[in-house]
Amino acid sequence: MAVLGIEGGIFGSALEEFNRAATVLGLERGIWNILSHPKRQITVSCPVLMDSGEIQVFTGYRVQYNLALGPAKGGIRYHPGVTLDEVTALAAWMTWKCALANIPFGGGKGGVTCDPTRLSRRELEALTRRYVAEIIDAIGPEKDIPAPDVNTNEQVMAWVMDTYSMHVGHTTTGIVTGKPLELGGSLGRREATGRGVMIVTREALKHLGRDLAHATVAVQGFGNVGSISAELIAREGATIVAVVDWKGGVHNAAGLDIPKLVEYVRVNPEHTVAGFPGGDPITNDEFWALDVDVLIPAALENQITVDNVGLIRARLVVEGANGPTTPDANKLLHDRNVLVIPDILANGGGVTVSYFEWVQDRHGYFWSEREVNERLEAKMCEAFEATLRTALQYRVDMRTAAYMVAINRVATVTRMRGMYA
Ligand code: GLU
Repeated sequence: MAVLGIEGGIFGSALEEFNRAATVLGLERGIWNILSHPKRQITVSCPVLMDSGEIQVFTGYRVQYNLALGPAKGGIRYHPGVTLDEVTALAAWMTWKCALANIPFGGGKGGVTCDPTRLSRRELEALTRRYVAEIIDAIGPEKDIPAPDVNTNEQVMAWVMDTYSMHVGHTTTGIVTGKPLELGGSLGRREATGRGVMIVTREALKHLGRDLAHATVAVQGFGNVGSISAELIAREGATIVAVVDWKGGVHNAAGLDIPKLVEYVRVNPEHTVAGFPGGDPITNDEFWALDVDVLIPAALENQITVDNVGLIRARLVVEGANGPTTPDANKLLHDRNVLVIPDILANGGGVTVSYFEWVQDRHGYFWSEREVNERLEAKMCEAFEATLRTALQYRVDMRTAAYMVAINRVATVTRMRGMYA
């Protein structure tokens, strides 16, 4: 089967990270074997009637990597680069992320290979509904609960919820998280990933004897994660000196005005930070080489590689994105004593508040934003402390430590549940 992508590819990188931690843990061969295979990979074809009158067929995936701790949980990504290998890696990372966050979910992920910037709103809705209809037997509030990811948002989640509800014949809010508030969404969910990034950045700086209020920070990516991380970190008093995205970048040593940058991106037709008048243009190489305290990659996978890792001067890298650092680059950073807060810890705030949303939907009783944020704060700090404790105890980097905590939890329940037939 070519589907596993064990040799190379993004899932190959995810397995390398897993293998390193499993070795330190001394994980037994049988459990090792189970945890390095996706439980279920679904590929679907989604025909869509385009505005032009033509029918276009889009390929979609849903991967449920591991269900030992509970229903699969993970977002749906719309991007031209989506492949089964990528979705499998992302589903594996969700497995470890949920286990590290200590929430009762397994890991899943979905994706459709498409360029959403070229789809009309009607085409986007049709594609979403058809994709959901194609995977409908595999998902459900007790089975697999999607959420937003790259290029999907609350509106897309509303369509997911409606399509599923129409199929089963009754409104089912718990089928998906990241929904609009009016449809059973949670206060604080939209900001949750960025808030989690802010919390772990603060905790990591504290560990280094530094204070977030006096830190300088550079952010790659200005979608939901990058923009809200930047906003909340700036609100803590830190200086955001640069932001880059797919189109270009902007730099201001005195600090970018993040609310103004958010507004600039919202109104310009290409939704990019490039050309923002509150700073000077900056190239990607200049961005990585900035003399800042903290770098936050919050875009896509494979951004920090052996080719640009040598440029990095920051003392701390906080992975807002999933998989932004290749395993080789990660090792070089560790050797140079750069502290890397891994994705499965740094961006776990999103799925943590997704869990809170699912709990609220099931109870039909909704929490205040303060309750959500306080519980998120507690969960992020617990995960950070468990990871740091493990890193110090075993003398390993934070990524290996985070995997060790997560793998240990999934392995323990796998042993307890035993083998079926
Ligand atoms: N897509 C987000 C992630 O990668 C959130 C997933 C969720 O809330 O289920 O963590």
